[in-house]
Amino acid sequence: MTEPSITCPKCLRTSYNINDVKHQYCGACHEFHDVIRAEFIMNNKTIQVTKKKAMGKMLTYPECANAHIFARMVRATTLSPRNLKLIEELGYKVEVK
Ligand SMILES: [Zn+2]
Repeated sequence: MTEPSITCPKCLRTSYNINDVKHQYCGACHEFHDVIRAEFIMNNKTIQVTKKKAMGKMLTYPECANAHIFARMVRATTLSPRNLKLIEELGYKVEVK
């Protein structure tokens, strides 16, 4: 039987503390794992998209979590050339998969 444990995505410390496991908390970083993960996503300045032809038009679909966040912000399922330009202006690199 293995003891329940959690490994922090930031400092990679493994904790066997029952409360840490239960709350998904890192005692070394003093942060909850979902907060750490959200920071990771926002700090990764790459946007991954795929281009697909639909109804005679080339559409850009979000691929990674960051791209989905942007699509949600513009309330669309695809990213327009204007959106992509804005994303690049914000300092993100658009990567077509
Ligand atoms: Zn940690």
